[in-house]
Amino acid sequence: MILIFLGPPGAGKGTQAKIIEERFAHRQISTGDLLRAHRANKTALGLEAQSYMDAGKLVPDDLIIRMMEHELANAKDVIVDGFPRTVAQAEAFDALLAAKQLSAKAVVFDVDQNVLMARLTGRWTNPRNGRVYHTIFNPPRVPGIDDEDGGELIQRPDDKAETIEKRLREYEEKTAPLIAYYGRAGNAIHVNALADIAVVTDEVVKALPGLAPTGHAA
Ligand code: ADP
Ligand code: AMP
Repeated sequence: MILIFLGPPGAGKGTQAKIIEERFAHRQISTGDLLRAHRANKTALGLEAQSYMDAGKLVPDDLIIRMMEHELANAKDVIVDGFPRTVAQAEAFDALLAAKQLSAKAVVFDVDQNVLMARLTGRWTNPRNGRVYHTIFNPPRVPGIDDEDGGELIQRPDDKAETIEKRLREYEEKTAPLIAYYGRAGNAIHVNALADIAVVTDEVVKALPGLAPTGHAA
């Protein structure tokens, strides 16, 4: 089963995707992480995407759809985090899924807009694997250092207040309509993403009885 994690920047999609990935046989595919890797490797896509990302804008649909067609070529049990983000992307994704005879379910992260700024300005990211922390809500044992690989955490350049505001506007205008898109198809479940991280995980896991455990402890 393909899971689509849907919600605004800061809703907790990446946090939950990493937890689910450890406990269940579902692999995370994050378009944001993929694009940042393309930028770091200075690929043609990375060079084209960077001005949009720095401006808090969505990267054009054709670039994203092409990237995801490639990434999803052999995907079966994956969490897609950060895609689709527009109706055009959702339609292209539907066509791809139909061709592969796969089905997808959207997990909608319900959250109040007013918590997002604090979540994003306090976010610290491991640039090597996309794992995230928060100075208050989920602090690493040593400030600025990842608990697991011991390497440095960074603050993403687009996690500054001015760019966050632009990203939230892009979300409302272009991505929020997808909640109704998947709802109409009867393919959306909602979780309360205002709750504590572990509570949100429990809610996601309860809503998705089809997840196959890997045997790793919670
Ligand atoms: P998204 O992937 O949806 O943009 P993240 O998972 O990166 O969101 O979370 C954004 C920030 O909020 C991170 O710093 C993360 O540690 C923190 N966070 C995630 N879930 C919660 C939660 N349920 N309560 C409080 N803070 C959270
Ligand atoms: P994220 O890591 O999900 O917060 O994404 C960071 C940035 O990458 C976004 O602000 C966009 O510029 C770009 N991006 C990620 N996913 C998509 C997508 N599906 N469509 C368009 N742009 C995207």
